[in-house]
Formats: sequence, structure tokens, C-alpha cells
Amino acid sequence: MTRWLIQTRGFELALGVSVLLGALVLYLVGLDWAQALLLALLPYVGRNLWLMTRLAYWIHCHYRLVPPFPLGFWGDIYRTIGQYQQRNRKERKRQLRFQRRFREAANSVPDALVVLNKNQIIEWANPAAMTLMGIHWPQDQGRQLSELFNHPQLTDSINAGDASSLEIAPEHDQSLMLAVQVAPFGERKKQRLLIGRDITKVYHLNLIRRDFIANASHELRTPLTVISGFLETLSESSLTPQSHRRPLQLMHKNTQRMRSITDDLLTLSRLELDHQVVDLTTVAIADELQLILADAQAVSAGRHQFELDIDSTLGLLGSQHELHSALSNLLLNAVKHTPIGTTISVTWAQQAQGAIFIITDNGLGIAAKHLPRLTERFYRVDKARSRESGGTGLGLAIVKHVLSRHQGYLAISSEEGAGSSFACHFPTRLVRRLTNQRGVSGSVLSAPGAGSLPASSR
Ligand code: ADP
Repeated sequence: MTRWLIQTRGFELALGVSVLLGALVLYLVGLDWAQALLLALLPYVGRNLWLMTRLAYWIHCHYRLVPPFPLGFWGDIYRTIGQYQQRNRKERKRQLRFQRRFREAANSVPDALVVLNKNQIIEWANPAAMTLMGIHWPQDQGRQLSELFNHPQLTDSINAGDASSLEIAPEHDQSLMLAVQVAPFGERKKQRLLIGRDITKVYHLNLIRRDFIANASHELRTPLTVISGFLETLSESSLTPQSHRRPLQLMHKNTQRMRSITDDLLTLSRLELDHQVVDLTTVAIADELQLILADAQAVSAGRHQFELDIDSTLGLLGSQHELHSALSNLLLNAVKHTPIGTTISVTWAQQAQGAIFIITDNGLGIAAKHLPRLTERFYRVDKARSRESGGTGLGLAIVKHVLSRHQGYLAISSEEGAGSSFACHFPTRLVRRLTNQRGVSGSVLSAPGAGSLPASSR
């Protein structure tokens, strides 16, 4: 401490000594002690005030301190602030370089990138946003996104911070098709990054593929109906030789299968055509299940047991035709793909997150490696057995599409040897309470016609 004071604070010590000496001289000249000390201190105080003012002026007006620095304590203060300033300048330059590199990288991304603040105001956009979304940077900075790129579903996704991708044809160029995704980021994930990818080519290829499948299925339908009709008549005719009957029956069975495939392909094409359900009604699911169960019991022919836990007063806003088809596919699958004696449970209930329809069976189950691919078209676990049971391999693809059109999703869980469970989840906003419906719970139905859901008023 003493060494530091002597070595580096020599100037301050010298100043102190000269103040004291000055005061002594003034005292000897005739002033009293107080006056002498005050007068001797004046230059010291003046110097401090001057150096303080100069520091404040340099910091606020010059933004940087440059040597030579004053001697003593003030020199130390000037030097330390100068060092901090230099470090800050370097850091700022580093950040600017990084920012520039980041912008260059973002500018070279072929996808449109738009940064929005929490009020959906445009803060930044890359050049691709101009061609793809009609958002010009920097001209459109500070403008509301909806003024330039208006899409109600996108607004909902932005508000909800929903990261799922939306297909949007932008207003400024209807020949484009974009896949727009919202990525929440920043403090408490309040800011949004919009990513718009040009999927025009893929979209048109998809349209061509879809149209081709729809047209081919449609064109094949009538000839197949005619062939199937004739084959059926011929196989049953008394004029047909006995030896021809079996081949004719086989041909008839196969044309029926081809018809099922073309029908399912047509259904899938129609489902793909529009992402929104148009024929929305309140569907009494219990009523639909009554019909579906009758079909399932007919196919089962007493080989399965059915357990029901149905909330009959629970309805769903949706397409009656589509929901019927999806639920029917799942129940018939449980009948077709499980062995004799299997118990099939059907549950329809309300949950905190909406409504759920579950078909559970204690059949053979499905190996885990097949589960992620089950909803692909024509994917079957056991091809030969599926064909034998009359399956087209399109049932679960149809279910998946129907659910996604109802903002729901299919969850499949299965264990080999223990059985499977197919759960359809529907959001709360589609749930409707029905009046005059009777609930069914825990019924056990075995033989065909041994029971059915209670009739309820539609
Ligand atoms: P399919 O017309 O063959 O039934 P799906 O798309 O409906 O076609 O089903 C795909 C495959 O999933 C079926 O071929 C079958 O192997 C398997 N699967 C579906 N449901 C069940 C089930 N409940 N138990 C076991 N396997 C099933």
C-alpha cells in the first residue's frame, strides 16, 4: 500500500504537500489558518473540477478518450475508462462483423424469412421475401404483416405460435404456392420468424399425380362394375360348366377387390382436394357407431367380442360421411386383422383436450418397426393376409386424412402379441353436446345381433 502510494501516487502526494506548504506560506504572510488552507486548496479543487468536466464532455461529445491523460488519480480514471471504451469498440466491431455475415447468409437463403415483433409488425425481411411474399425490405419495415400478406389461417398460427406448415398461394403472385411456417423466438417466445418456402413445383406435381389417380380410378370404376356384374352372373348361371365356376368366382372376387381399391383411391383424392371440410354438421357419433357396429358384427360373424363405452350425448362438428368412413375403417380393421376370440373395445368420450375415439383390441398386435409407416398408402404389415381379408392398404391413410381435415390426429400404439390401440383425437372446438341421447357404457356384445347401441334421435 505504502509502496503503491509512493510509487504511483507520487503526484497526488506532491499535490498534497504543496497545498500544505502553500497554506503555511499564506499563514506566515499574515492570514489565519482557515483562510490560508482555503486559499491553498483553491487551485487543487479547480483542477479537479476542470478534469471532471473535461471527462464528462469527452464521454458525451467525443465518445472516446485519447492520451495524453492527466497525472495522478484522474489519469488512472481516464486510462481505465479509455480501456473500457477500446474494449467496447472492439466488441461492437466484432458484433457488426457477425451481424453483417449473418445478414449475408440470411440474404442468400432461397426461402423467404420475415421477422415479426409481438404485434405482427415487420422488423426485418430477406430479399427472397420480396419475390415470394411481396414484402420489401427496408421499405415495409414497421408495417403490419396483414397489410401485405393477409391469410386468416396464418394469422391464427402466428397468434398461437403454431409451428405447423401452411400451404398458401400469395395474393401478389397467384402462380406461386408457398409452405409457410411460423417459428416463435426471442424473449418468452413472443417474436415470430416466418419461413416461406417455394413449393410450386412439388405442389403442381402433386396436383398432376392426384388428378391422374382420381381420373384413372374414375375411368376404371365403370368397366370394373360391368365386368364384375357379368362375372357374378356367369358364375351363378346354370349354363356355366362346373369346371368354369371356380375360376369365374375368383375373377369376380378380384374385380371386387379392384373396385374397392379404386373406390378408396377416389376417396383419398377427394380428401386431398380440399384441406377444409365443407359439409359441416353436428354428427351424433353414437348413431354412426350403431351402423358401423352392425357392419363389424356382420363381418366378424360372432368371432369377436365387442365392449362399448360410448358417451351418447357427445357429438362432433364435422363431415358425417368422412367421420363414418374413418371410424368404420378402424373398427373393421380390428375385426379383419385380429384372430377369433379377440375382444374389441370401442370408447367415445370427452377429455380435457377435446374428444377421443379409441378402438382397442387384444389381438396379435403390430411390431414397433411398422407403426410409423402404417398410415402410408398400401403399407401392410402382412401383405398376403391383408389381401386375403379384403384389405386395400388404404384404410389408415384415409383415417389420417379425415382426422387432419378435422384438426385431429391418429395415435397408434401396439405391442406384438398383446394387441393394438388406435386413438382418434379431436379438438375441443369441434365438440358438441347433444340432447335426447342415451349413454351406453360397458356393454359387452358377442354374437352378431346380440346387442346394439340404443337408437337415438338424430
Ligand atoms: P388394410 O386395407 O390392409 O386394412 P389399412 O391401411 O387399414 O389397410 O391398414 C394397414 C395395415 O395395418 C393392415 O394391412 C394391417 O397389417 C395393419 N393393421 C391395421 N389395423 C390393425 C389391427 N387392429 N391389428 C393388427 N394390425 C392392424
